[in-house]
Amino acid sequence: MKKLKTIRSLSRKLFLSVFFVGSSVGWGSMLQAQQIVEGLSCLDGSPVSVEIAEGKIVRVQPLKKLSDERQAVYIAPGLIDNQVNGFAGVSFTFGGSELTAEGVRKATRELWKKGVTSYLPTLTTNSREVLLKNFTILAGAKNDPALRGSIPGFHLEGPFISPVDGYRGAHPLKYVRKPDWQEFLDLYEASGRAILTVTVAPEQDGAMEFIRRCTEMGVTVALGHHNAGRAVVDQAVLNGASVATHLGNGCANMINRHVNPLWPQLANQQLSASLICDGFHLLDEEIAVFYKVKGPEKTIITSDVTSFAALPPGQYKNEDGETIELTSDGMLRFPAQNVLYGSATPISRGVVKIMEVTGCTLGEAVRMASANPAALYGLHDRGELKPGKRADLILFTVGKRDLHIVKTYVAGELVYEANP
Ligand SMILES: [Zn+2]
Repeated sequence: MKKLKTIRSLSRKLFLSVFFVGSSVGWGSMLQAQQIVEGLSCLDGSPVSVEIAEGKIVRVQPLKKLSDERQAVYIAPGLIDNQVNGFAGVSFTFGGSELTAEGVRKATRELWKKGVTSYLPTLTTNSREVLLKNFTILAGAKNDPALRGSIPGFHLEGPFISPVDGYRGAHPLKYVRKPDWQEFLDLYEASGRAILTVTVAPEQDGAMEFIRRCTEMGVTVALGHHNAGRAVVDQAVLNGASVATHLGNGCANMINRHVNPLWPQLANQQLSASLICDGFHLLDEEIAVFYKVKGPEKTIITSDVTSFAALPPGQYKNEDGETIELTSDGMLRFPAQNVLYGSATPISRGVVKIMEVTGCTLGEAVRMASANPAALYGLHDRGELKPGKRADLILFTVGKRDLHIVKTYVAGELVYEANP
């Protein structure tokens, strides 16, 4: 908590400025206006200027001081969320008719307000028809210029997961099935060949071959909603699996203390882990231990955020008419099975939570929500404040529970600015 206090008081004292540098150096129409954004580096709090041209970062330079010190904000690469089932009333995964290109635009705009500049719309276990339909809609929406490249691809979580209660989580049993390579290829084509990652249960029949084939195609394989032991987890990693999806969730409440899916995923040093750091999915001590094992290199902050995020507390219905409850403190529950129903909290909250729980630095926390997911999915054009990367930037202060986003830039364009 001490570190957070220091950051907050620093935030109040310092400032940001944004201005344009004219192209009056004699190169005529060849030069476009360059934009310079100032802020405090999220790595060490030192003032920096970030020069942008044609949507990319051209230069990052240290400053003696900011141009205007009346106010201070941090500057960081935009956040990258690898598991977004929906947002602000828009569901990517429901089978109804509500998923539209305008809905994707709305969800994207709302995520920008939370500092998320790239995200993977996530389709969960459903019928083949719904998955094909929704991937087709998402593929059509993905390259909408209004999104400015905020959707680099998609996450398929299921349907090739464990059918067992607890491990299956809230995924509907009737649609859970064994890995089917031809079905995956059909979904991959429907997605415009943009499924970047698939979450599978490695103990299911045919899973090892499935994992190997996905890896050969360049699709990142994640292990999740499974009950695999050590030999199976290690074999899956040998076949190319590289990350555990929301480690500690998608797991039964009652497990054997020795033989369970947690230890082998923690023990395997090649495996990264995504963690839902919303204050509900994992206890603080779980986050602390998982982080100690995986470190800032192999931890990824994810949200598993759903369409119920950014809605008022209350009771809602899912597409099967089942009751979903969003509590006043932000917990999203599926009361019928007494399990969580995904999250209502974006990863900006996770950045603050993991700092609070582990004592990691702001720079490390931001890395786990930007550079690490970018690297995992081969998104080499984003995720860091470095020359040549997309100018996806966020300016923010650090609050007690969440980042307060002041401005969000996507590919060099200001897409969100908070009211002063
Ligand atoms: Zn899940």
